[in-house]
Amino acid sequence: MENCLFCKIIAGDIPSAKVWEDDLCYAFRDIAPQAPTHILVVPKAHIDSVNGITVENSAVVAHIFEVIPQIAKAENLEGGYRVVSNCGADAGQTVFHLHFHILGGKKLALEMA
Ligand code: AMP
Ligand code: ZN
Repeated sequence: MENCLFCKIIAGDIPSAKVWEDDLCYAFRDIAPQAPTHILVVPKAHIDSVNGITVENSAVVAHIFEVIPQIAKAENLEGGYRVVSNCGADAGQTVFHLHFHILGGKKLALEMA
């Protein structure tokens, strides 16, 4: 999709610190990490947000959740980690290409709101 930051990152038009790539998804380090390990996992096909997940495209979400534990293992997050997807303005979504934050590497605060 034109003018989508994460589509440009996936295409290699904007540099990123890649940690995973396969046919369906791409993962890279967040540019403004909120934890010692902060990785974003995105589907290669553009989906705006969680609200854009449908019966036609949800297989990529299942795939991403199969990949996340493999990334966590490679990143030595055996102590645990959090997976977050902000959906919409009230949740603080700033990039409207579906992404899952993997946060770990320290004991995370429990506040969710
Ligand atoms: P969200 O606020 O949930 O939409 O998350 C968007 C995330 O993208 C934020 O954590 C940003 O720090 C991150 N981000 C923005 N631009 C880049 C970039 N060029 N490379 C890596 N991460 C980015
Ligand atoms: Zn996109």
